[in-house]
Amino acid sequence: MTESPVLIAGGGIGGLATALTLHQIGVPCTVFEAAREMRPLGVGINMQPNAVRELYDLGIGEGDLDRVGLPAREWALVGLNGNDIYAEPRGLLAGYNWPQYAVHRGQFHMLLHDKAVERMGPQAVRLGSRVTGYRNNSGGGVSARIEHADGSVSEAKGALLIGADGIHSAVRAQMHPAQPPIHWGGAIMWRGTTWGRPIRSGSSFVGLGTHRQRMVFYPISHPDPRTGLSIINWIAEVTMDNSEGWKQSGWFRQVDTADFLHHFADWMWDWLDVPALIRQADTVFENPMIDRDPVPT
Ligand SMILES: Cc1cc2nc3c(=O)[nH]c(=O)nc-3n(C[C@H](O)[C@H](O)[C@H](O)COP(=O)(O)OP(=O)(O)OC[C@H]3O[C@@H](n4cnc5c(N)ncnc54)[C@H](O)[C@@H]3O)c2cc1C
Repeated sequence: MTESPVLIAGGGIGGLATALTLHQIGVPCTVFEAAREMRPLGVGINMQPNAVRELYDLGIGEGDLDRVGLPAREWALVGLNGNDIYAEPRGLLAGYNWPQYAVHRGQFHMLLHDKAVERMGPQAVRLGSRVTGYRNNSGGGVSARIEHADGSVSEAKGALLIGADGIHSAVRAQMHPAQPPIHWGGAIMWRGTTWGRPIRSGSSFVGLGTHRQRMVFYPISHPDPRTGLSIINWIAEVTMDNSEGWKQSGWFRQVDTADFLHHFADWMWDWLDVPALIRQADTVFENPMIDRDPVPT
C-alpha cells in the first residue's frame, strides 16, 4: 500500500480532503483533476461541525477558515408574513465542540488545494488530467486511464482508485453502467452574492418563503471593518412542473436578474429588501436542482 500510491479521480472538495487525510496517515497518493487550472468557483456552502472537526484534525483551523468564511451562529425559518416560524442556534452556540462554518465554496476549495500542494508537492495534484476509465490489474492494484489537456493519454498505476469526480463521475459510470441518469428535481435556483449588512445574529442562515417559492441567504465573510458589509450568499428558488424534464440546454448558466426578479418583486419587509439584494448582485447563475439516485453498493 505504501509503495504504490492511491489514485484519486477529482480534485474537488472530496478528493482534496481525502488526499490531505491520506498524506496525514502516511499513505502516498496522487490527485487527477480534469480542470486545467484551479479557479475559485461556486458561492456559499455550509460546513457542519462534523466536517469542521475533520478540518481541524487536518491542521486547517480557525485562522484558515476565517479567511474563507465565518462561523454560523443561527438557523432561522421565516414565513412570508415576515414572522419567525422556527429558529435555533448553530455550531458552538448549539453546544457542539466545533463550529459550523459558512464559507465561500471557491475560496475554500482553493484553500484545500494550496494546503495539498504545500504539504505534498505540486506533483501530487495533476491538473488537466481527466480520468476516463480504469482496469483492475491481475497482480493486484489498478490502472487508471488519464486523458491530458494536450490530448495525450497515459495510464497511472496505483494500489486503489478513489472516484471523487463529482456528480457526473466517470469512475462510477464504469462501475455501475446501468445507473440511471441524473434527474431534475423540479426546482430552479438562481444564486448570487451581494455585499450587504448581516442581519439577526450577524451570521444567520435564513430560509424565507414557502415550499413553492423561497429564498435562502447567509453571510459568507466577516464584515469589512470599514463598511460593516459582508458578502451575502443568496439562493432564490422556485418549484416548477418537471413532468417534461429540464428543457434548457445547460445545467449551469449566467443569467440576468431581470429573468427571474418578478418572482420576488414584492418580497419587502422593514428588515429585508429581497429585490434590492438580487439587483445588487455581482453575478447570478441559474441552476436546476439536480439529483442522482444512490447506487446499490
Ligand atoms: C464548480 C462547482 C461549483 C459549486 N458550487 C457550489 C455552491 O456554490 N454551493 C454548494 O452548496 N455546492 C456547490 N458545489 C457542489 C459542492 O461543492 C459539491 O457537492 C461537494 O463539494 C461534493 O464534493 P465532491 O468532491 O464530491 O465533488 P465536486 O466538488 O463536484 O468535485 C469534483 C471534481 O472532480 C473533477 N472531475 C470531474 N470529472 C473528472 C474526471 N473524469 N477526472 C478527473 N477529474 C474530474 C471536477 O472538475 C471537480 O473539480 C459546486 C461544485 C462545483 C464543481
